[in-house]
Amino acid sequence: MEKFKTKIVLEMIRSLQEIKDKIMMDINKQTVNLTCPECKRSISVSLKQVADEVLVKCSCGQGIQLKDSNGTNRKGIRDVNKSFKDLENAFKKLGR
Ligand SMILES: [Zn+2]
Repeated sequence: MEKFKTKIVLEMIRSLQEIKDKIMMDINKQTVNLTCPECKRSISVSLKQVADEVLVKCSCGQGIQLKDSNGTNRKGIRDVNKSFKDLENAFKKLGR
């Protein structure tokens, strides 16, 4: 019975990690559009790039420094990570 319980918990944790990976992938794929201050062309950047505050380059050569205002995107990604970590810990406790 104990072994059975452990197996179920391990499977739940594995499923949880798969769901988390999928959500993270989706978050990373979300894009926002910016307007180049130089040529006014629309540039598409991913939320992850915004969270990482990378320097993107427009096709006209203009560099644009992304800014995660108040760390909103970074915080969102961290919150999702933390929620999954908490769930995982809750599952691990069940397995004991
Ligand atoms: Zn441009």
